[in-house]
Amino acid sequence: LDEMTTQARLDKVKADLVANVSHELRTPLAAMAALLETLEAKDLTADQRAHFETRLRSQHGRMQALVEDLLSLSRLEGRQVTVQQESVDLGPLVQEVFASIAPLAAPAQVSLLAEIPAGLRVRTDRNLLEMALKNLVYNGIRYNRKEGSVPVRAEAAGGELLLDVIDTGEGIPAPHLDRIFERFYRVEPHRSREKGGTGLGLSIVKHSVMQLGGQVGVQSAVGSGTRFRIRLP
Ligand code: ADP
Repeated sequence: LDEMTTQARLDKVKADLVANVSHELRTPLAAMAALLETLEAKDLTADQRAHFETRLRSQHGRMQALVEDLLSLSRLEGRQVTVQQESVDLGPLVQEVFASIAPLAAPAQVSLLAEIPAGLRVRTDRNLLEMALKNLVYNGIRYNRKEGSVPVRAEAAGGELLLDVIDTGEGIPAPHLDRIFERFYRVEPHRSREKGGTGLGLSIVKHSVMQLGGQVGVQSAVGSGTRFRIRLP
């Protein structure tokens, strides 16, 4: 009986995922169809044309981000990931993450601050840790206030490595904290989409950190900010 219940639950999770993905793809697809139709009209000025083309590109980007996140997630869940054990120097890793994300932080005027002790190393999989950090820093930027900051801190404590990604943003109300790591769970669906979110970032974080044998947790204060903490063995 137990086994059946588990199977039934897995089936439901799968069915929900397919429904969610279809829904998430349908919205940008419909927007793209409408924009293409508008662009086919012959009497547009150059400015109008440019405006609709920009919107078309942004919808396309949204679909692309969604498909890329889905692929990352299915790889992470499919147990086909080979987890490397390499000695990773955290300072340079965080700098690399910042460099790849800096173009997104600039328009929001958010400062990225690395507070990593020199030479601090951990044995782990570099790519998986980088993927987790990128998603957390990206959220720290998107949900921040103007001229806010995203400090990233690391310390070794009792055989563990603690990595904190902090932001000075709006915070997350307590009732949502347990659920934000679920696929497609958003505190404010409309705002997440507006900010180009796929709703998958934190599930990617959770699964990457799990593959590394670690844990991820969150603490937040509405109005002052949020701290995500990754613990690695
Ligand atoms: P999204 O693409 O919507 O950001 P995520 O899985 O990365 O998806 O995050 C899920 C939800 O958790 C977001 O929609 C947002 O409501 C909330 N969230 C995530 N990170 C933060 C943060 N740093 N500050 C405030 N809210 C956050």
